[in-house]
Amino acid sequence: STFNELGLAEPILKALAHEGYDAPTPIQAQAIPHVLRGKDLLGIAQTGTGKTAAFALPILNHLELNRTRRVGRRACRVLVLSPTRELAGQILDSFRAYGRFMKVTSALAIGGVPVGRQARSLMPGVDVLVATPGRVIDLYEQGAIKFDEIEILVLDEADRMLEVGFVHAIRSIIAKLPEVRQGLFFSATMPKEIADLAERLLREPATVSV
Ligand code: AMP
Repeated sequence: STFNELGLAEPILKALAHEGYDAPTPIQAQAIPHVLRGKDLLGIAQTGTGKTAAFALPILNHLELNRTRRVGRRACRVLVLSPTRELAGQILDSFRAYGRFMKVTSALAIGGVPVGRQARSLMPGVDVLVATPGRVIDLYEQGAIKFDEIEILVLDEADRMLEVGFVHAIRSIIAKLPEVRQGLFFSATMPKEIADLAERLLREPATVSV
């Protein structure tokens, strides 16, 4: 298939041409139609398969279709959780690259950076927040971010969240999400604790595996 056939919006197709991407990878071809329809998704995929674009492209498409919606102060519309600061930075770069022809605001919330500066940068609200779970909880407890406008939550490399001890923080974030939201969950493996997290987040998910 082609990106065009997937039905992605014009500014996204333009950005993909700019990136030099010819065709969707298998995870992208399988996942993007489900996400575009608003389905929850359980993706079993390793890194290197193109899974970042598999969620970033349909999310950007959703933002493009709803581009007149304004985000409230301290709110975010899309929250992407990553196990590490490095991966979070790469995911943010991907959103910015694929969204370069759109007006999308994005920010990073990770540990190791002064929390006060991050809190101030979130004050106007942001379309896409990419974060590590511990820092999100800190910001939430300080009243620096709100979860009530979240439309989509992405959990990337969920199994690696176990190693870094973020499962408790993620459970607490999931419990605070609005009832109506879309959940996208990616993991290379499915140990019991991770399957339990997926079950808490997802409702009748489509499953794709590469
Ligand atoms: P990921 O698995 O998301 O870490 O992506 C792995 C690499 O593949 C990244 O460098 C992407 O820029 C690249 N990539 C993702 N999708 C495509 C595509 N459809 N065509 C060419 N390269 C891609």
